Amino acid sequence: MNCLFCNIISGKIPAKLVYQDDTVVAFDDINPKAPHHKLIIPRKHISTLNDLTVEDRLVLGHMAEAAQKIAKELNIAEQGYRFVINCNAEAGQSVFHLHAHLLGGRQMTWPPG
Ligand code: 5GP
Ligand code: ZN
Repeated sequence: MNCLFCNIISGKIPAKLVYQDDTVVAFDDINPKAPHHKLIIPRKHISTLNDLTVEDRLVLGHMAEAAQKIAKELNIAEQGYRFVINCNAEAGQSVFHLHAHLLGGRQMTWPPG
């Protein structure tokens, strides 16, 4: 399987890593939509949120925990940030390896477009 984010995990494709542990990796989004825009992905290839199984349920908690740590590190935890997962076409998912967007550093609007 040729997956962009699996290739980032393996180092085949370079990315600016900001966090990693045994379960997740986080890096700068190549096309940032906010002053801080990180992508947090599981090391395990899971295509979409729909494909998360009961065995994977800790993965999502782990992604959220990474977001907490990164937000604290970036000093945006108190002012606020977004933690967003797009699932499939209507949500705008373009890379089919589960990822959460961590967006911060500006006032967000609601609802998202
Ligand atoms: P999605 O649209 O699937 O929710 O988010 C995919 C994200 O991956 C987009 O925000 C896009 O800018 C980012 N992206 C696409 N290709 C690359 C890449 O090669 N490197 C990095 N760091 N981010 C990428
Ligand atoms: Zn993958």
